[in-house]
Amino acid sequence: MKEMQVVVTMDCERPRTETHAQATGPRSYAESERFIRGYVAVAAEHGFPVSFFVHPEVALAHAALFKELAAKGSTVGLHIHPWKYMDGRYKAHFGGLSAGEQRAILSEAIGLWLHAFGTRPIYFRSGTYSANDATFAALVELGFRGSSTSLPGRVLPALNVNWAGAEPDPHRAHRCFRQLAGTMELAEMPVSVDSSVTVEKPGHRYHPDLRPDWRDMDVRRLAGNAVAQVIARAPAIPVVNLGTHNDNDYTDPDDRVCRNFRAELEEIHAACARAGVRPVGATVDAICDRVLAEPAREAEFAYV
Ligand SMILES: [Zn+2]
Repeated sequence: MKEMQVVVTMDCERPRTETHAQATGPRSYAESERFIRGYVAVAAEHGFPVSFFVHPEVALAHAALFKELAAKGSTVGLHIHPWKYMDGRYKAHFGGLSAGEQRAILSEAIGLWLHAFGTRPIYFRSGTYSANDATFAALVELGFRGSSTSLPGRVLPALNVNWAGAEPDPHRAHRCFRQLAGTMELAEMPVSVDSSVTVEKPGHRYHPDLRPDWRDMDVRRLAGNAVAQVIARAPAIPVVNLGTHNDNDYTDPDDRVCRNFRAELEEIHAACARAGVRPVGATVDAICDRVLAEPAREAEFAYV
């Protein structure tokens, strides 16, 4: 392995005043824009571009901002928490919707996206990484080519999240079993985790991902371990994929989460250097290009 693709992402949420006081998200769109610009600047200091997953209302509010960032090398995809969508008529997480309901909300969101940008979204991440076995098929039907909706090992049934045993590296999605690699014309880019740590709480089991928000984790160690685990697996497309939300002040070098973000990016460089691998910034579209350039191969049938 010569190179590690580093994909830095951010999910852009509606302000909490429009959703719920306890939800992820900024206090206002003005704050949101400042945090987004700060995040892009810190990632750029370390040589990495940013891929955004943006809630439809945020796409409308920040259309000019995301057009500007896309022109400078960012990729902008769609993010949906059904319960945060518009007037709140979907009281659900994405994986709690039927195939028809998923197609309906995606279709509505595509309409808003067209209004904001004049193009259709082709990359997707669901809120909370919530999905079911209808999700990838719904995305393909509506013209998507890439997704970053799996968080290997995360099990949170109350929010319709179950990625137990999920494929940890970029792959073609499976048409009917979401944890497996398949043959669809849809690339799935899993979020990176440190699989050496397992957190168990009532109703919730997960390996920590590399969000810089953690209060009780050594984020530098998580980042180093995640890089080492990708190198040990030696997949065809080695990727470290990390993300957060637009709700911390990345313009403030003394902000706790901003400090964590810098520490993680430094550690990704250091862990790659220790392994003799070159870290290369990439956006989600470039990873999907590589996944879809590989021929679709059926897994061998297991007679057991
Ligand atoms: Zn979200």
